[in-house]
Amino acid sequence: MDLGITGKRALVCAGSKGLGRGCAEALAQAGVDLVLNARGAGALEATAAELRAFGVQVTAVAADITSDAGRAEVLAAAGAVDILVTNAGGPPPGLWSDWGREDFLRAIDANMLTPIALMTALLPGMIDRGWGRVINITSQSVKAPIAQLGLSNTARAGLTGYVAGTARQVAPFGVTINNLLPGIHATDRAVALDAGVARAEGITPAEAMRRRALTIPARRYGTAAEFGAACAFLCSVHAGFIVGQNILLDGGATNATL
Ligand code: NAP
Repeated sequence: MDLGITGKRALVCAGSKGLGRGCAEALAQAGVDLVLNARGAGALEATAAELRAFGVQVTAVAADITSDAGRAEVLAAAGAVDILVTNAGGPPPGLWSDWGREDFLRAIDANMLTPIALMTALLPGMIDRGWGRVINITSQSVKAPIAQLGLSNTARAGLTGYVAGTARQVAPFGVTINNLLPGIHATDRAVALDAGVARAEGITPAEAMRRRALTIPARRYGTAAEFGAACAFLCSVHAGFIVGQNILLDGGATNATL
């Protein structure tokens, strides 16, 4: 399918690895020029070089997207973009009694106020040009909160509420905002969570992964490529009527009809 977005320009945040990279790669395959961000310059430059092989322009900006200075640097390099994919690392797991005000502020800054700041900066240009796409990478924990990810549950619930209203305010101008909710995908993040479970239960990380995969109806983890393909479709010209949705990509793990 021709996604109809060849020659568009996208900012993909936290995109040197994992799900962000999956989105960047699928957009590059669709002919979209990229501004690609992550903190570590090495992996970022390597990914940028690989994506240029698709014949698109890729500008790499090594910066912490959750900091004011990092965001300013990324936005200056991005200029006018047609597509925004927001993403950042997720907050650490723990127990409700571990977390104080500073922990919540860090999580809210990274996973709620950062995507909101990026949308605030970039939506006006999209509205002026009469076309835009925003995809926020959130989590299945928005629909089915995961007990030990209380910081993530809290911050992402706030972002979800913001998007629900804002998506309806910008839709009249040809701009759509949707959230992609990953379930378990085989990325560094999932490996780190499995390693934590393995330590706590005295098993190997491979065994922790095997047990977790068995809890997913698809009996496997998702891939970054599958995730990226869904993102690219939502950014396509065919997805203009999909507005303000929270779309689960979880192999059937969340057992709910609505
Ligand atoms: P990942 O494999 O660990 O990749 C994270 C990417 O984000 C890397 O490129 C990393 O590069 C970059 N990054 C992290 N923090 C950043 C920051 N502050 N500024 C700029 N770049 C940053 O993670 P992932 O699995 O793709 O997860 C992406 C998001 O989806 C996370 O919020 C995670 O909580 C959520 N999620 C993931 C899963 C899953 O199963 N994978 C499930 C549910 C939700 P640098 O470290 O070099 O900055």
